[in-house]
Amino acid sequence: MSLIEDLAAANRILAEHGVIDGYGHVSVRSDRDPQRYFMSRSLAPELITEDDILEYDLDSNPIDPRGRDSYRERFIHGEIYKTRPEINAVVHNHSPSIIPFGITSESLRPIFHMAAFVGEGVPNFEIRDVEKGTDLLVKTPYLGKALAKTLGGKPAALMRGHGSVVVGENLPRAVGRSIYLEISARLQMQAMMIAGPAGKIACLDASEVKASVPPQDYGRAWNMWRAKALARMRSEK
Ligand code: MN
Repeated sequence: MSLIEDLAAANRILAEHGVIDGYGHVSVRSDRDPQRYFMSRSLAPELITEDDILEYDLDSNPIDPRGRDSYRERFIHGEIYKTRPEINAVVHNHSPSIIPFGITSESLRPIFHMAAFVGEGVPNFEIRDVEKGTDLLVKTPYLGKALAKTLGGKPAALMRGHGSVVVGENLPRAVGRSIYLEISARLQMQAMMIAGPAGKIACLDASEVKASVPPQDYGRAWNMWRAKALARMRSEK
């Protein structure tokens, strides 16, 4: 049981749930040095093993790249760790069901108890407010800082026309939030279709959000997801 093994498992869990595919990444802050974090080299998440994990400083420079390429959007991770000392895991994904909420005036709402954290607020990062004419990728420290600023103290932020970033105090929480954010967005679209334009949707109220968020670590699910992911990984060796 190690953080590196958990991180390799996290990549495969998110791929298995369709949250990340060939793209997207997950990182974890080092348990030895809070000024460092771990993330895979540039590789499709479903193929990642412990051997692919690199260590980065908070400026997102690899400590020892061993000739390996890094993800171009790694600055998302480093810049969030700088501004959020309590956050120890970051997921960046292109999970499809949340995209419509980043490109319309419709906000994500807390409609499902497994994603109660949505009630804490999910801001939308409009990259055009920061830099015009980009390919939407957060591939500079400048853009990473701007995204971290939009995220502020929230559990997640949408990235208009691109995806989202989801954070947690630990890896199971960031992974679980990413999976249930995708599900919650899908459920909200279904509820909106059933309710129609003037229909009402019952959301978790502020007291329900408050009661749900702190204990939600997705621990039971994490143990199952992790065991399955590691069994798959071992069987490939
Ligand atoms: Mn991306």
